[in-house]
Amino acid sequence: HHHNHKPHFILIPWMAQGHFIPMIDIARLLSLHSVFVTVITTPGNTSRISSTISRLLPVHFTTLSFPSTATGLPPGCENLDSVPSRDLARNFYNAAKLLRQPLEHYLRTSIPPPSCIIAGVGFPWLHSIAKELNVPRLVFQGFSCFSLLCNHNLSFFKPHETVSSPSQPFLLPHLPQTRQQQQQQQQQQQLMITKSELPKFFDKSSEFYDIYKELQEGENSADGIIVNSFDELEPEYAEFLAKATKKRVWTVGPVSLSSEDKLDVSERGNKADINEEDCLHWLNTQVPGSVIYVSFGSMGKLAPEQVKELGFGLEETKRPFIWVMKTSEKSPELEEWLAGEFRERNEGKCFLIRGWAPQVMILKHKAVGGFLTHCGWNSTLEGVAAGVPLMTWPLGADQFLNEKLVVEVLGIGVRVGAKAAVASMEGGEKGSGEMVRREMVVKAVERLMDGGDEEGKERRERVKELEEKAKKALMIGGSSWLNLDLLIGYVSEHDVVKLHG
Ligand code: UDP
Repeated sequence: HHHNHKPHFILIPWMAQGHFIPMIDIARLLSLHSVFVTVITTPGNTSRISSTISRLLPVHFTTLSFPSTATGLPPGCENLDSVPSRDLARNFYNAAKLLRQPLEHYLRTSIPPPSCIIAGVGFPWLHSIAKELNVPRLVFQGFSCFSLLCNHNLSFFKPHETVSSPSQPFLLPHLPQTRQQQQQQQQQQQLMITKSELPKFFDKSSEFYDIYKELQEGENSADGIIVNSFDELEPEYAEFLAKATKKRVWTVGPVSLSSEDKLDVSERGNKADINEEDCLHWLNTQVPGSVIYVSFGSMGKLAPEQVKELGFGLEETKRPFIWVMKTSEKSPELEEWLAGEFRERNEGKCFLIRGWAPQVMILKHKAVGGFLTHCGWNSTLEGVAAGVPLMTWPLGADQFLNEKLVVEVLGIGVRVGAKAAVASMEGGEKGSGEMVRREMVVKAVERLMDGGDEEGKERRERVKELEEKAKKALMIGGSSWLNLDLLIGYVSEHDVVKLHG
């Protein structure tokens, strides 16, 4: 009975690009392992998937309408990246809550019935329907094992509650010794952090604290955790995470490697706002390993003065760079500067992308030699999967933790030196941290890109090694491939037990 049974996986991605994109990749991976896959999302999000996944692969899309206007959001606002202001974030969460009834109805009546629900972070209330239908509910939070483990330990030991100021460093508690440290008989690393660098859900004074609590309960009560990572990258953290949470942990990534298809790669998450051929053509004219790719993810915004300062820094490095800037960073002076003197001085040197960049396509190009990143987990892993070392400039969320993993644990990046906005812990506006000066940018670029010294060479070799391991992990018989198989086995078994007692 085990063999001809095809389990039905229901995927419900959280509607933010950093969650949605990897979930679609997971849908693709599952479908390649011959199971039924249904992705449930909203019309606006479905329409962003124009690539092969919706045409060629056996993934079924079910669309539920999203009550944007009913909850005070602008029409068509169905993804966190289009919520116009912070004041409306709660409305977005409330709108998502209104999906409960139609979703439960779908799950009760679906044919074939669901075997497993893999849910993004915004749906803690799926707990009860999963219980009612007796199906495993797994969460996908979009974090690394490292930051998931840190978050778990911090919630348990609460060291941040005993420090006197948001900028006072304290030890990240109860982390494993890595294999590399064991082999080299090194002391376990002491990783320090400050309260201002922690994800906002540790901030009790946050206006969203009640929502964070709800979300956390949803995650704590889940039956297992799916992680976009791979065993060879952070094995000790994956193991400790499973032990600490007493949950199964399946690392199935890097999911960005799930497709080599040109469309999948170039139109991941959105249609690019530039002509991809132009971009490839520009890259083709550059020296291998010489280009810096600069991006702050799908939502990261810098103040206009900071954008300008970064521009000066990049220019001063005298290296070619691709600079992705969100259109919402607009200010009249900035526009004038960009179109005027900046453009004149950097003609041919700077490939500017306003809006959405074909990130994975760019990172894969041999001309790219460094990635200045905000350390969103997807971007970080996409850099690793492309064998590109990183310059880290975290802004918030899990990004300071990822920076620690990249710089201190894995040794594949250098810090730019961005400080967390201390004010944000006291309810201030995001981005009120100290300005990153152009000299800091230049220094980080030089340390990373001038491969002359031993340190730089080793860093580059390490990330290349990880790239190879990442690619192997996704191949037939690789660790992530096997984990996906184990996951499917776990779900099938549950199905069989449910049917036959
Ligand atoms: N991304 C992209 N083009 C852009 C900005 C982002 O393709 O212009 C993709 C990027 O490749 C990654 C995701 O969007 O897959 C962003 O996720 P990440 O976790 O890096 O950051 P977040 O946007 O969640 O802060």
